[in-house]
Amino acid sequence: MKSIRNDFPALSQMVNNNQLIYFDNAATSLKPKSVIEGLKDYYSSFNSNVHRAGHYLSAKSTKAYESARANVADYINAKDSTEIIFTKGTTESINFLASILAEDILKDGDEIILTRMEHHSNIIPWVALKDKLDLTIKIIEIDEKGELLIDDLDKLFTEKTKVLSMAHSSNVLGILNPIEEIVNKAKSRGVLTIIDGAQAIVHEKIDVQKIDCDFYCFSGHKMYAPMGIGVLYGKKELLNQLSPYQKGGGMIKNVTYEEVIYNTPPYRFEAGTPNVGGAIGLSKAIDYINSIGIETIKKHEQSLLNHGNYKLKVIEGIKIYGRSAIKDPIISFNISGIHHSDLAIILDKFGIATRAGFHCAQPLFDHYNVKGNLRISFSFYNTIEEIDIFVEKLNLAINMLK
Ligand code: PLP
Repeated sequence: MKSIRNDFPALSQMVNNNQLIYFDNAATSLKPKSVIEGLKDYYSSFNSNVHRAGHYLSAKSTKAYESARANVADYINAKDSTEIIFTKGTTESINFLASILAEDILKDGDEIILTRMEHHSNIIPWVALKDKLDLTIKIIEIDEKGELLIDDLDKLFTEKTKVLSMAHSSNVLGILNPIEEIVNKAKSRGVLTIIDGAQAIVHEKIDVQKIDCDFYCFSGHKMYAPMGIGVLYGKKELLNQLSPYQKGGGMIKNVTYEEVIYNTPPYRFEAGTPNVGGAIGLSKAIDYINSIGIETIKKHEQSLLNHGNYKLKVIEGIKIYGRSAIKDPIISFNISGIHHSDLAIILDKFGIATRAGFHCAQPLFDHYNVKGNLRISFSFYNTIEEIDIFVEKLNLAINMLK
């Protein structure tokens, strides 16, 4: 653990005269030295545009960019690296899909299915389409534990259902949804499936062939990679049929003022200068995860989750949201009579980074009829001792605010 923590320079700092305890990992992860060094190496020695020039730096940069793509493909077990499109992150990947599917596939009157626990980035692009197309959005609701009411799904499908888009795991509840089962149901009705893996990608072994979804989206920055890089995985046969999202340099075979012949995927979908440094950083992050092993990471994170639940559940007046047995390491809660933001402010004074609010999932909070909560989210570099300190300071804050 000591050597793992040493890999993350940000962890060693003091915040407000206390050793930093970083429990806001669901928002973004800290970065290991190998990722920081990878970026530094790219920008200090072979920064150059890709796929365009024939000179030494460009060739080196292109090679690194394309091997990053292959590394991502291997990591999520895509059939082929051409199924990997680099984007800015999950938000861009979903916006990409909403706008292209609206152009190529969706028709007036079609229906799409989301769930109660979606992040705004998997709600707003679809709601925005309602004005353009007469779309109906249907919701898979949750039960008292926060688990999806999957049995209701059969009633939600109609002949007009075209897309099911949902989180693999919730950024508020931590609940890991049974997506293979859900994707299977959607597939049997010919419904396209989009999985938002923004949270799951850093805690779970993702195998897109096993899940068998049509599209899988995630952000690099939540999995130890730099900000501004993310992935849209899509099945090759589908990507081949889709129009480009943006238009510009680097995505064509031939251009005249009369006609454009677009390149094949993934290049057709990566107009303009890409985030080469980000892709290299993402590849370094994958190497880093692989060097520890996702199963080892998961085991430690699950012990943090169990310990956190065990210590928190005895606090008077606590309500923990998401009480499923199958969860990623996120605990969000409220303490009766105390505002979550006040707790977060006091905890910050003790050097503890938490997150208070809606966590970009307002419809979920509408369901619970509350105005937000306090979320702690763990990474494998966190420790049981940090949780104990957190609980001690939380109790202090509760006593101050009572
Ligand atoms: N989806 C989920 C479940 C998330 O937790 C987040 C970010 O918190 C996003 C989507 C959006 O990710 P990004 O802001 O990296 O695009």
